[in-house]
Amino acid sequence: PLVLGIETSCDETGVGIVRGNTLLADAVASSVEEHARFGGVVPEVASRAHLEAMVPTIERACADAGIRLLDVDAIAVTNGPGLAGALLVGVAAAKALAVGLGKPIFGVNHLAAHVAVDQLEHGPLPSPCVALLVSGGHSSLLRVSDVTGGDQGVVPLGATIDDAAGEAFDKVARLLGLPFPGGPHIDRAARSGSSVYVDFPRGLTSRRDLERHRFDFSFSGLKTAVARWVEARERSGEPVPVDDVAASFQEAVVDVLTRKAVDAAVSEGIEDILIGGGVAANSRLRVLAEERAAAKGIRVRVPRPGLCTDNGAMVAALGAEMVARGRQASPLDLPADSSLPVTSVLA
Ligand code: ATP
Ligand code: MG
Ligand code: FE
Repeated sequence: PLVLGIETSCDETGVGIVRGNTLLADAVASSVEEHARFGGVVPEVASRAHLEAMVPTIERACADAGIRLLDVDAIAVTNGPGLAGALLVGVAAAKALAVGLGKPIFGVNHLAAHVAVDQLEHGPLPSPCVALLVSGGHSSLLRVSDVTGGDQGVVPLGATIDDAAGEAFDKVARLLGLPFPGGPHIDRAARSGSSVYVDFPRGLTSRRDLERHRFDFSFSGLKTAVARWVEARERSGEPVPVDDVAASFQEAVVDVLTRKAVDAAVSEGIEDILIGGGVAANSRLRVLAEERAAAKGIRVRVPRPGLCTDNGAMVAALGAEMVARGRQASPLDLPADSSLPVTSVLA
């Protein structure tokens, strides 16, 4: 099926077009620069930017794909989770298209879409697989047998009990004076730093914590530890070695993420790990996950970095999978749900 997907859950206006598992267009307009000086995404600014970018981004995607809107078989749209006002813009645009074209609309879960997108790059998802979903607002380990939902399609194994991994990257970047969003800047700085310069804490990895939180994550203690270390350095009047702190912090995050993802796969008897979400773009996470999984005979799939951060292609990919699996379309009064849980894939 030819599916057009719309993504507006945060600050990216994304319109993707796929035919089955083939990516035809992935147009993204970001308002990130408008938020940078506030050090975080300003919801009202994001909504307004989506409104302005929506029609041009749809037009650009159609031109890139070489299709007319009339050719589309279905519209998919992120209806949660995300910023309420931002989601509304995408959902309203998708409804207008669905009504105007007389085509079905599929409301899809943004988090499931972060997982589904990999099929555009590496073909049908291995089933079951362990998905490590690490983004700006979420960090979870999931057992995925059907990314379109269904009975036990997506089962949570663990999640962060405080900050998301991406949130930790963004907060630590801010402490180090790096621009927003911090993930890519930490990634870059870390390349010329030493990952063993500071031994930062690995959250929820003590024997006691593992009893109750085997597959859960915690990053707020790590963030505080970095803040204390930087403050102490500044008080002593010595310069802060940004690259070394970035590398040491990054290592603490990806050490725990990869350790727990591999443990989850081994414990579930699953041979495939899929990593998705903005933090999946992290170069060190990709290398360490591959290394540790390979040691246990487990395969790792990660989409290319451009498909890890928010985009419309991921929404179209999940929409195409919904159509392929004969899932029922959403009603035309489909609501946006800013706190849609990761397990409820279907609206
Ligand atoms: P969610 O998907 O939970 O709703 P979101 O959509 O805002 O959150 P994504 O776009 O999926 O988040 O991911 C953005 C996050 O990914 C930001 O926190 C950003 O710093 C982080 N990120 C992006 N690239 C990298 C990288 N190379 N290394 C580490 N983190 C990164
Ligand atoms: Mg973003
Ligand atoms: Fe996201």
